[in-house]
Amino acid sequence: MNDNTNTVLKGHIHSTESFGTVDGPGIRFVIFFQGCPMRCLYCHNPDTWSVGGGREVTTDELLAEYESVKEFMRGGGITCTGGEPTLQMDFLTELFEKAHEKGIHTCLDSCGVTFNKSHPEKFERLIRSTDLVMLDIKHIDPEEHKKLTGHDNKNILDFADFLSDHDVPVWIRHVVVPGITDNKEYLYKLGRRLAHIHTMKALDVLPYHTMGKAKYEQLGLEYPLGDTEPMSHEGAKAARDEIMRGLKDELAEIIRNKK
Ligand code: SF4
Repeated sequence: MNDNTNTVLKGHIHSTESFGTVDGPGIRFVIFFQGCPMRCLYCHNPDTWSVGGGREVTTDELLAEYESVKEFMRGGGITCTGGEPTLQMDFLTELFEKAHEKGIHTCLDSCGVTFNKSHPEKFERLIRSTDLVMLDIKHIDPEEHKKLTGHDNKNILDFADFLSDHDVPVWIRHVVVPGITDNKEYLYKLGRRLAHIHTMKALDVLPYHTMGKAKYEQLGLEYPLGDTEPMSHEGAKAARDEIMRGLKDELAEIIRNKK
């Protein structure tokens, strides 16, 4: 949440991590934003859900934290994740714009749910200082997506198209959960849809794990996936192969139709 009553914009963040290696290229300063409108059944950060909590900071304070470790950020930069960073759009934009002025590589890790293609203005400004977006597509089927996250996936797919149309590099992430997203038909369909994101640079297919369980216990929340077993790396690889099969088939069809 942004505090517009003060001249200095303030954001609410959950935490920072100085040497992140999985949230974008290189070694990165990772900022976990507080607040998320989604309720993904497999979320391992339920402590970031509440809006308005966390530590209140200014963009200059975050950039000073980055400066204190920047000599170690080899090939990296700043990643904003969460939670959902675009819930605090003005703060996020100010942070990325200031980072860009300093030549820092910026990466946004987003679920895309706040995007509304009828009002893209704030996103148009944000992407001017965004070098990379890591976009989670949780499920390709709107109804299944709703069951999994509490929202349908329309805005998210619109956001993917928006990034593609604006030449913003995208890494797609997809979590494979036994019994929920490991269905071959849906994986194939996802691949076909991804073929239309021209700026997709990478596809990370991640196996579901249960490491977030303890946090639910600490927060007094019931763990939504109960005894669902973690996904094996082989299972995630098979899911990736199926997505890639769909992507290649769609690309082949696009090429055929152009001839
Ligand atoms: S979008 Fe991310 S932070 Fe939000 S509920 Fe889903 S997994 Fe958790």
